[in-house]
Amino acid sequence: MNDEFARLAALRRLEVLDTPPEEPFENVVALIRTVLGVPMAAVSLIDADRQWFKARSGIDAAQTSRAVSFCTHTIAQREPLVIPDATKDERFTDNPLVRGELNIRSYAGVPLRTSEGYNVGSLCAIDTQTREFSPAEIAILDKFARIVVDELELRRIAGRDQLTGVLTRRGFVESANQEIERHRRYGRPASLAMIDIDHFKSINDTYGHPAGDTVLRQVAAVLEAAKRPNDLLGRLGGEEFAMLMPETGSEAALAAADRFREAIASASIEPLPGVHLVITASFGVAMLDGATTDAEHWFAAADAPLYAAKRGGRNCCVAAGMDAAQP
Ligand code: GH3
Ligand code: MG
Ligand code: MG
Repeated sequence: MNDEFARLAALRRLEVLDTPPEEPFENVVALIRTVLGVPMAAVSLIDADRQWFKARSGIDAAQTSRAVSFCTHTIAQREPLVIPDATKDERFTDNPLVRGELNIRSYAGVPLRTSEGYNVGSLCAIDTQTREFSPAEIAILDKFARIVVDELELRRIAGRDQLTGVLTRRGFVESANQEIERHRRYGRPASLAMIDIDHFKSINDTYGHPAGDTVLRQVAAVLEAAKRPNDLLGRLGGEEFAMLMPETGSEAALAAADRFREAIASASIEPLPGVHLVITASFGVAMLDGATTDAEHWFAAADAPLYAAKRGGRNCCVAAGMDAAQP
């Protein structure tokens, strides 16, 4: 546990630092305040030289230096850290958070311990009065700390599709919304390609569902290899994928989609050992414009030309506002 480098790596892997407030964590700090009757509560993460609050209630600052934080002491141990009177504790008696405006007198913190065993931060309750924390109150903090860690770890897993390793719909939606925000602020172009495998049902019917899964993995790998490093690939569901192409206008996106189409059509797909198949997919491409309100709206704009590509005979790419372009 004194491997600070590995601890920081574990914190980085959670991809949580400097992310916006999120409801589950807001709920936890609100509950801690109510149930323990304290004016301040926080989900604090200990970065290299700062403590950053994923959620905070009754605390104005979004972060503090690590040196003054109580939580940096909490993460050095496995057990909860309880300080009934900070002015009587030599570690905190001169602390600016105690002597200054915040006027902290008492503190109870439980380490946020990841499943790999790293203390990445703490869940803490803070009071401006001296006070004791009962074993029952510490047990409540401890239970909530587990919920916080589970939530952090599950969110990360939920971002990646288990079968193919590409972004899940949830992860992809998040990225698409960020791209829409970038467009709104800076006017940067971006395009989206919706990708649907042709006649996929017959692959399942012929070779079985597990072989169908193998095909999905291989198609994802082909797309992953064909895309640019900045492009983002997601699996929106079933045999439907999507590619997010930042800094790419309509014409360039259509050309890229056609490269992806060609890469799939020319790959040797192996649903079962020794069985080689030619698989094709159809593409619908839509560029961002000022009217795009959110990710689902953008997906719908690319769905329409995808449908046209299917009607146009499959294995082809169609951009929004265009008629079917045959390969
Ligand atoms: P089209 O060319 O019109 O797209 O034909 P299609 O057969 O691909 O059409 P449809 O979208 O109706 O069928 C998709 C099939 O994908 C149906 C479903 O059983 C199968 N499927 C969905 N999710 C999975 C999955 O995770 N694994 C496997 N093996 N099959 C899946
Ligand atoms: Mg489909
Ligand atoms: Mg299909």
